[in-house]
Amino acid sequence: MTLPDVYSAEPIPASARPEIDRLLQSGDLFRYTAPEDAPVALLEAEYAALLGSKYALAVSSCSAALFLSLKALGLPRDAKVMIPGFTFAAVPSSVVHADLVPVLCEVGENYRIDIADFEAKLPDVSAVIISHMRGHTSDMDAIMALCEARDIPVIEDAAHSLGTTWHGRNIGTIGKIGCFSFQSYKLVNAGEGGILVTDDADLLAQMVIMSGAYEHNWRKHKQASGAEDTALSAAFARWQNKLPLYNLRLGNLSAAIIRPQLPEVARRVTHGRRNHDYVAARLNESTWMQVPDKLPPEERAPDSIQFNLCGMDDAQIAAFQKAAQARGIKVQVFGASEDNARAFWNWQFLKDLPELPQTRAMLMKACDVRLPARLELAELDVIADTLTAAINDVMAPAAAA
Ligand SMILES: *Cc1c(COP(=O)(O)O)cnc(C)c1O
Repeated sequence: MTLPDVYSAEPIPASARPEIDRLLQSGDLFRYTAPEDAPVALLEAEYAALLGSKYALAVSSCSAALFLSLKALGLPRDAKVMIPGFTFAAVPSSVVHADLVPVLCEVGENYRIDIADFEAKLPDVSAVIISHMRGHTSDMDAIMALCEARDIPVIEDAAHSLGTTWHGRNIGTIGKIGCFSFQSYKLVNAGEGGILVTDDADLLAQMVIMSGAYEHNWRKHKQASGAEDTALSAAFARWQNKLPLYNLRLGNLSAAIIRPQLPEVARRVTHGRRNHDYVAARLNESTWMQVPDKLPPEERAPDSIQFNLCGMDDAQIAAFQKAAQARGIKVQVFGASEDNARAFWNWQFLKDLPELPQTRAMLMKACDVRLPARLELAELDVIADTLTAAINDVMAPAAAA
Protein backbone atom coordinates (compact mmCIF):
# COMPACT_ATOMS: atom_id res chain seq x y z
CA MET A 1 0.00 0.00 0.00
CA THR A 2 1.27 3.47 -0.83
CA LEU A 3 1.69 6.21 1.74
CA PRO A 4 -1.40 8.36 2.32
CA ASP A 5 -1.42 12.05 1.48
CA VAL A 6 -1.18 13.83 4.83
CA TYR A 7 -1.09 17.34 3.44
CA SER A 8 -4.37 17.99 1.65
CA ALA A 9 -7.28 19.35 3.66
CA GLU A 10 -10.73 17.82 4.08
CA PRO A 11 -13.30 19.32 1.73
CA ILE A 12 -15.41 22.12 3.20
CA PRO A 13 -18.88 20.62 3.86
CA ALA A 14 -21.18 21.08 0.86
CA SER A 15 -23.78 22.55 3.22
CA ALA A 16 -21.64 25.73 3.21
CA ARG A 17 -22.53 26.48 -0.42
CA PRO A 18 -26.02 28.05 -0.25
CA GLU A 19 -24.85 30.63 2.29
CA ILE A 20 -21.66 31.36 0.36
CA ASP A 21 -23.80 31.83 -2.78
CA ARG A 22 -26.15 34.13 -0.92
CA LEU A 23 -23.22 36.24 0.24
CA LEU A 24 -21.75 36.37 -3.27
CA GLN A 25 -25.15 37.38 -4.68
CA SER A 26 -25.79 40.09 -2.13
CA GLY A 27 -22.22 41.26 -1.68
CA ASP A 28 -22.95 41.30 2.06
CA LEU A 29 -19.41 40.45 3.14
CA PHE A 30 -18.75 42.92 5.97
CA ARG A 31 -19.83 41.77 9.41
CA TYR A 32 -21.39 45.10 10.37
CA THR A 33 -23.52 45.78 7.27
CA ALA A 34 -26.56 43.72 8.29
CA PRO A 35 -28.49 45.11 11.28
CA GLU A 36 -28.31 41.74 13.04
CA ASP A 37 -27.48 38.05 12.68
CA ALA A 38 -24.55 38.48 10.29
CA PRO A 39 -22.72 35.15 9.72
CA VAL A 40 -19.82 36.36 11.91
CA ALA A 41 -22.19 37.20 14.79
CA LEU A 42 -23.89 33.80 14.46
CA LEU A 43 -20.50 32.07 14.43
CA GLU A 44 -19.58 33.86 17.67
CA ALA A 45 -22.79 32.72 19.39
CA GLU A 46 -22.33 29.13 18.17
CA TYR A 47 -18.66 28.99 19.14
CA ALA A 48 -19.30 30.36 22.63
CA ALA A 49 -22.02 27.71 23.09
CA LEU A 50 -19.72 24.95 21.75
CA LEU A 51 -16.96 25.87 24.20
CA GLY A 52 -19.24 26.68 27.13
CA SER A 53 -18.08 30.29 27.32
CA LYS A 54 -20.13 33.41 27.87
CA TYR A 55 -18.66 35.37 24.95
CA ALA A 56 -16.73 34.87 21.71
CA LEU A 57 -15.14 37.38 19.34
CA ALA A 58 -14.12 36.31 15.83
CA VAL A 59 -11.02 38.02 14.43
CA SER A 60 -8.57 37.76 11.53
CA SER A 61 -6.19 35.22 13.15
CA CYS A 62 -5.21 33.60 16.42
CA SER A 63 -2.25 36.01 16.47
CA ALA A 64 -4.73 38.91 16.34
CA ALA A 65 -6.68 37.31 19.21
CA LEU A 66 -3.50 37.02 21.31
CA PHE A 67 -2.57 40.64 20.54
CA LEU A 68 -6.04 41.95 21.49
CA SER A 69 -5.99 39.84 24.67
CA LEU A 70 -2.72 41.41 25.74
CA LYS A 71 -3.95 44.93 24.87
CA ALA A 72 -7.13 44.40 26.91
CA LEU A 73 -5.09 43.51 30.01
CA GLY A 74 -3.93 47.14 30.03
CA LEU A 75 -0.34 46.38 31.04
CA PRO A 76 2.24 49.17 31.01
CA ARG A 77 4.71 49.28 28.10
CA ASP A 78 7.58 46.80 28.51
CA ALA A 79 5.76 44.73 31.13
CA LYS A 80 6.88 41.10 31.02
CA VAL A 81 4.76 38.26 29.71
CA MET A 82 5.75 34.63 30.23
CA ILE A 83 5.47 32.32 27.22
CA PRO A 84 6.74 28.76 26.70
CA GLY A 85 10.12 28.30 25.02
CA PHE A 86 8.41 25.83 22.67
CA THR A 87 5.72 27.57 20.65
CA PHE A 88 5.11 29.09 17.24
CA ALA A 89 6.90 32.37 16.42
CA ALA A 90 3.49 34.10 16.26
CA VAL A 91 3.32 33.98 20.07
CA PRO A 92 6.45 36.00 20.96
CA SER A 93 5.51 38.19 17.97
CA SER A 94 2.12 39.06 19.49
CA VAL A 95 3.87 40.04 22.73
CA VAL A 96 6.29 42.32 20.87
CA HIS A 97 3.41 43.78 18.86
CA ALA A 98 1.66 44.73 22.12
CA ASP A 99 4.83 46.60 23.28
CA LEU A 100 5.49 43.98 25.94
CA VAL A 101 8.53 41.81 26.64
CA PRO A 102 8.39 38.02 26.45
CA VAL A 103 10.03 35.90 29.15
CA LEU A 104 10.70 32.38 27.88
CA CYS A 105 10.04 29.41 30.11
CA GLU A 106 11.68 25.98 29.81
CA VAL A 107 9.67 23.14 28.32
CA GLY A 108 10.21 19.49 29.22
CA GLU A 109 10.79 16.36 27.15
CA ASN A 110 7.01 15.90 27.08
CA TYR A 111 6.57 19.27 25.24
CA ARG A 112 4.87 20.78 28.30
CA ILE A 113 5.84 23.73 30.48
CA ASP A 114 8.47 22.96 33.13
CA ILE A 115 6.57 23.98 36.24
CA ALA A 116 9.70 24.55 38.36
CA ASP A 117 11.10 27.05 35.82
CA PHE A 118 7.63 28.58 35.41
CA GLU A 119 7.33 29.13 39.16
CA ALA A 120 10.84 30.55 39.40
CA LYS A 121 10.17 33.14 36.66
CA LEU A 122 6.62 34.02 37.71
CA PRO A 123 7.50 36.80 40.21
CA ASP A 124 8.96 38.85 37.32
CA VAL A 125 5.97 38.75 34.98
CA SER A 126 2.65 40.61 34.73
CA ALA A 127 0.80 38.09 32.54
CA VAL A 128 1.19 34.58 31.15
CA ILE A 129 0.40 33.05 27.75
CA ILE A 130 0.10 29.28 27.89
CA SER A 131 0.67 27.86 24.43
CA HIS A 132 -0.76 24.37 24.21
CA MET A 133 1.78 23.61 21.51
CA ARG A 134 0.59 20.98 18.99
CA GLY A 135 -2.33 20.55 21.40
CA HIS A 136 -0.16 19.28 24.27
CA THR A 137 -1.68 20.58 27.50
CA SER A 138 0.61 21.74 30.27
CA ASP A 139 -0.33 21.17 33.91
CA MET A 140 -3.15 23.71 34.08
CA ASP A 141 -3.94 22.86 37.73
CA ALA A 142 -0.44 23.90 38.81
CA ILE A 143 -0.33 26.89 36.44
CA MET A 144 -3.70 28.29 37.52
CA ALA A 145 -2.94 27.79 41.24
CA LEU A 146 0.41 29.61 40.91
CA CYS A 147 -1.06 32.45 38.83
CA GLU A 148 -4.21 32.90 40.91
CA ALA A 149 -2.11 33.14 44.08
CA ARG A 150 -0.30 36.13 42.52
CA ASP A 151 -3.29 37.53 40.62
CA ILE A 152 -1.48 37.08 37.30
CA PRO A 153 -3.84 36.79 34.30
CA VAL A 154 -3.51 33.70 32.10
CA ILE A 155 -4.24 33.78 28.36
CA GLU A 156 -4.53 30.41 26.65
CA ASP A 157 -3.11 30.03 23.16
CA ALA A 158 -5.42 27.19 22.15
CA ALA A 159 -4.74 27.73 18.42
CA HIS A 160 -4.22 24.02 17.93
CA SER A 161 -6.30 22.71 20.86
CA LEU A 162 -9.93 22.89 19.78
CA GLY A 163 -11.61 19.80 21.25
CA THR A 164 -8.94 19.11 23.88
CA THR A 165 -10.26 18.90 27.44
CA TRP A 166 -8.68 19.14 30.90
CA HIS A 167 -10.71 17.49 33.70
CA GLY A 168 -13.52 17.47 31.11
CA ARG A 169 -13.35 21.23 30.63
CA ASN A 170 -12.57 22.70 27.22
CA ILE A 171 -9.06 24.01 26.75
CA GLY A 172 -9.32 27.75 26.12
CA THR A 173 -11.93 28.23 28.87
CA ILE A 174 -9.55 27.81 31.84
CA GLY A 175 -7.62 31.08 31.64
CA LYS A 176 -9.15 34.56 31.37
CA ILE A 177 -9.17 34.43 27.55
CA GLY A 178 -8.72 31.51 25.13
CA CYS A 179 -7.51 32.10 21.55
CA PHE A 180 -8.09 29.74 18.60
CA SER A 181 -7.01 29.63 14.95
CA PHE A 182 -8.92 28.79 11.75
CA GLN A 183 -5.74 28.74 9.65
CA SER A 184 -5.69 25.72 7.33
CA TYR A 185 -3.46 23.49 9.47
CA LYS A 186 -5.85 23.61 12.43
CA LEU A 187 -8.93 21.50 13.20
CA VAL A 188 -11.34 23.97 11.56
CA ASN A 189 -10.06 25.40 8.28
CA ALA A 190 -11.00 28.77 6.83
CA GLY A 191 -7.61 29.50 5.28
CA GLU A 192 -7.18 32.29 7.81
CA GLY A 193 -9.13 33.45 10.84
CA GLY A 194 -9.26 33.25 14.61
CA ILE A 195 -11.61 33.52 17.55
CA LEU A 196 -11.32 34.17 21.26
CA VAL A 197 -13.57 33.18 24.13
CA THR A 198 -13.94 34.73 27.58
CA ASP A 199 -16.44 35.09 30.42
CA ASP A 200 -15.19 38.59 31.28
CA ALA A 201 -17.51 41.35 29.99
CA ASP A 202 -15.01 44.15 30.58
CA LEU A 203 -12.23 42.41 28.61
CA LEU A 204 -14.65 41.39 25.85
CA ALA A 205 -15.98 44.95 25.39
CA GLN A 206 -12.43 46.28 25.00
CA MET A 207 -11.45 43.57 22.52
CA VAL A 208 -14.64 44.02 20.47
CA ILE A 209 -13.99 47.75 20.15
CA MET A 210 -10.27 47.37 19.42
CA SER A 211 -11.01 44.65 16.83
CA GLY A 212 -12.79 47.36 14.82
CA ALA A 213 -16.37 47.79 16.13
CA TYR A 214 -16.31 51.53 15.47
CA GLU A 215 -19.14 53.87 16.52
CA HIS A 216 -21.93 51.65 17.87
CA ASN A 217 -21.22 48.49 15.89
CA TRP A 218 -20.70 46.64 19.16
CA ARG A 219 -24.52 46.57 19.34
CA LYS A 220 -24.45 43.98 16.55
CA HIS A 221 -22.60 41.48 18.72
CA LYS A 222 -25.05 38.80 19.76
CA GLN A 223 -25.14 38.11 23.44
CA ALA A 224 -24.73 34.46 24.26
CA SER A 225 -27.76 34.36 26.55
CA GLY A 226 -29.98 36.41 24.24
CA ALA A 227 -31.11 38.38 27.28
CA GLU A 228 -29.90 41.91 28.01
CA ASP A 229 -26.44 41.66 29.57
CA THR A 230 -26.12 44.70 31.80
CA ALA A 231 -22.47 44.05 32.68
CA LEU A 232 -21.58 44.01 28.99
CA SER A 233 -23.65 47.09 28.12
CA ALA A 234 -21.98 48.97 30.96
CA ALA A 235 -18.56 47.86 29.74
CA PHE A 236 -19.26 49.07 26.19
CA ALA A 237 -20.45 52.42 27.55
CA ARG A 238 -17.29 52.66 29.68
CA TRP A 239 -14.93 52.01 26.75
CA GLN A 240 -16.75 53.91 23.98
CA ASN A 241 -14.27 56.19 22.15
CA LYS A 242 -11.51 55.35 24.64
CA LEU A 243 -9.60 52.74 22.64
CA PRO A 244 -7.70 52.60 19.34
CA LEU A 245 -9.22 50.55 16.53
CA TYR A 246 -6.84 47.93 15.16
CA ASN A 247 -9.32 46.53 12.60
CA LEU A 248 -8.68 42.82 12.95
CA ARG A 249 -12.20 41.74 12.01
CA LEU A 250 -13.33 38.52 10.37
CA GLY A 251 -15.50 38.69 7.22
CA ASN A 252 -18.82 36.96 6.55
CA LEU A 253 -17.39 34.63 3.88
CA SER A 254 -14.94 33.15 6.38
CA ALA A 255 -17.75 32.67 8.90
CA ALA A 256 -19.82 30.92 6.24
CA ILE A 257 -16.93 28.50 5.68
CA ILE A 258 -16.37 27.93 9.41
CA ARG A 259 -19.94 27.47 10.69
CA PRO A 260 -20.73 24.22 8.79
CA GLN A 261 -17.47 22.74 10.14
CA LEU A 262 -18.45 23.16 13.80
CA PRO A 263 -20.73 20.08 13.74
CA GLU A 264 -17.73 18.15 12.33
CA VAL A 265 -15.50 18.96 15.28
CA ALA A 266 -16.63 16.04 17.47
CA ARG A 267 -15.89 13.51 14.70
CA ARG A 268 -12.54 15.08 13.87
CA VAL A 269 -11.59 14.96 17.55
CA THR A 270 -12.63 11.30 17.99
CA HIS A 271 -10.85 10.15 14.85
CA GLY A 272 -7.78 12.31 15.47
CA ARG A 273 -7.42 10.85 18.96
CA ARG A 274 -7.93 7.29 17.69
CA ASN A 275 -5.33 7.82 14.95
CA HIS A 276 -2.82 9.38 17.31
CA ASP A 277 -3.14 6.71 19.98
CA TYR A 278 -2.95 3.91 17.41
CA VAL A 279 0.27 5.21 15.83
CA ALA A 280 1.70 6.10 19.28
CA ALA A 281 1.30 2.49 20.45
CA ARG A 282 3.05 1.24 17.30
CA LEU A 283 5.96 3.72 17.57
CA ASN A 284 6.41 2.99 21.28
CA GLU A 285 7.24 -0.65 20.32
CA SER A 286 10.52 0.68 18.93
CA THR A 287 13.56 1.12 21.17
CA TRP A 288 14.37 4.40 19.45
CA MET A 289 11.04 6.19 19.31
CA GLN A 290 9.01 7.37 22.28
CA VAL A 291 5.69 9.22 22.34
CA PRO A 292 5.34 11.10 25.64
CA ASP A 293 2.22 10.31 27.68
CA LYS A 294 -0.50 12.88 28.09
CA LEU A 295 -1.08 14.22 31.59
CA PRO A 296 -3.91 12.32 33.35
CA PRO A 297 -6.58 15.13 33.30
CA GLU A 298 -6.08 15.71 29.56
CA GLU A 299 -8.09 14.27 26.66
CA ARG A 300 -6.34 15.14 23.44
CA ALA A 301 -7.60 16.21 20.01
CA PRO A 302 -4.49 15.63 17.86
CA ASP A 303 -4.09 16.07 14.11
CA SER A 304 -0.39 15.21 14.17
CA ILE A 305 1.98 13.11 16.25
CA GLN A 306 5.17 14.11 18.06
CA PHE A 307 7.74 11.62 19.28
CA ASN A 308 11.24 11.74 20.70
CA LEU A 309 14.21 9.90 19.23
CA CYS A 310 16.03 8.05 22.01
CA GLY A 311 19.67 7.04 22.21
CA MET A 312 20.52 8.55 18.84
CA ASP A 313 23.23 11.09 18.08
CA ASP A 314 22.78 14.06 15.73
CA ALA A 315 24.20 12.17 12.74
CA GLN A 316 21.82 9.25 13.33
CA ILE A 317 18.89 11.67 13.69
CA ALA A 318 19.80 13.28 10.38
CA ALA A 319 20.17 9.84 8.78
CA PHE A 320 16.72 8.86 10.08
CA GLN A 321 15.14 11.96 8.53
CA LYS A 322 16.84 11.11 5.24
CA ALA A 323 15.75 7.46 5.40
CA ALA A 324 12.15 8.48 6.16
CA GLN A 325 12.23 10.96 3.27
CA ALA A 326 13.55 8.24 0.94
CA ARG A 327 10.65 6.04 2.03
CA GLY A 328 8.21 8.91 1.40
CA ILE A 329 7.53 10.52 4.81
CA LYS A 330 8.67 13.97 5.74
CA VAL A 331 9.68 13.91 9.41
CA GLN A 332 10.40 17.33 10.82
CA VAL A 333 12.79 17.44 13.78
CA PHE A 334 11.83 20.80 15.29
CA GLY A 335 15.37 21.90 16.14
CA ALA A 336 17.11 20.33 13.15
CA SER A 337 15.20 21.87 10.26
CA GLU A 338 16.60 25.17 9.04
CA ASP A 339 14.88 28.36 10.25
CA ASN A 340 12.09 26.40 12.00
CA ALA A 341 9.62 28.95 13.43
CA ARG A 342 9.09 26.76 16.50
CA ALA A 343 12.77 26.80 17.55
CA PHE A 344 13.29 29.69 19.98
CA TRP A 345 16.80 30.51 18.73
CA ASN A 346 15.23 31.58 15.44
CA TRP A 347 13.18 34.31 17.16
CA GLN A 348 15.99 36.76 16.52
CA PHE A 349 13.57 39.70 16.54
CA LEU A 350 13.69 39.38 20.36
CA LYS A 351 16.25 41.39 22.25
CA ASP A 352 18.43 39.39 24.67
CA LEU A 353 17.30 36.03 23.33
CA PRO A 354 17.89 33.64 26.24
CA GLU A 355 19.32 30.13 26.16
CA LEU A 356 16.99 27.34 27.31
CA PRO A 357 19.16 24.21 27.49
CA GLN A 358 16.36 21.82 28.38
CA THR A 359 14.02 23.09 25.64
CA ARG A 360 16.87 23.04 23.11
CA ALA A 361 17.71 19.41 23.98
CA MET A 362 14.04 18.46 23.48
CA LEU A 363 13.78 20.32 20.15
CA MET A 364 16.87 18.50 18.81
CA LYS A 365 15.22 15.08 19.09
CA ALA A 366 11.47 15.81 18.88
CA CYS A 367 9.87 14.74 15.61
CA ASP A 368 6.67 16.01 14.04
CA VAL A 369 4.52 14.00 11.60
CA ARG A 370 1.11 15.02 10.29
CA LEU A 371 -1.75 12.62 11.05
CA PRO A 372 -5.04 14.05 9.80
CA ALA A 373 -8.30 12.79 11.29
CA ARG A 374 -9.51 11.51 7.91
CA LEU A 375 -6.86 8.71 7.75
CA GLU A 376 -8.01 5.08 8.04
CA LEU A 377 -6.35 2.41 10.17
CA ALA A 378 -4.69 0.72 7.16
CA GLU A 379 -3.12 4.06 6.22
CA LEU A 380 -1.90 4.54 9.79
CA ASP A 381 -0.22 1.13 9.60
CA VAL A 382 1.64 2.22 6.48
CA ILE A 383 2.86 5.35 8.28
CA ALA A 384 3.94 3.40 11.38
CA ASP A 385 5.59 0.68 9.25
CA THR A 386 7.47 3.29 7.23
CA LEU A 387 8.75 5.17 10.27
CA THR A 388 9.81 1.88 11.90
CA ALA A 389 11.58 0.76 8.73
CA ALA A 390 13.36 4.11 8.43
CA ILE A 391 14.60 3.97 12.01
CA ASN A 392 15.73 0.39 11.53
CA ASP A 393 17.62 1.42 8.38
CA VAL A 394 19.73 3.63 10.60
CA MET A 395 19.73 1.95 14.02
CA ALA A 396 19.42 -1.80 13.43
CA PRO A 397 22.86 -2.03 11.75
CA ALA A 398 24.27 0.20 14.50
CA ALA A 399 22.73 -2.06 17.19
CA ALA A 400 24.05 -5.20 15.49
CA ALA A 401 27.57 -3.76 15.18
C1 LIG B 1 -1.15 28.23 14.36
C2 LIG B 1 -0.73 28.67 15.71
C3 LIG B 1 -0.72 30.04 16.04
C4 LIG B 1 -1.02 31.13 15.05
O1 LIG B 1 -2.32 31.09 14.52
P1 LIG B 1 -2.71 32.13 13.35
O2 LIG B 1 -4.20 31.98 13.25
O3 LIG B 1 -2.01 31.66 12.12
O4 LIG B 1 -2.29 33.47 13.78
C5 LIG B 1 -0.37 30.38 17.33
N1 LIG B 1 -0.04 29.45 18.25
C6 LIG B 1 -0.04 28.13 17.96
C7 LIG B 1 0.30 27.12 19.03
C8 LIG B 1 -0.38 27.69 16.68
O5 LIG B 1 -0.37 26.38 16.41
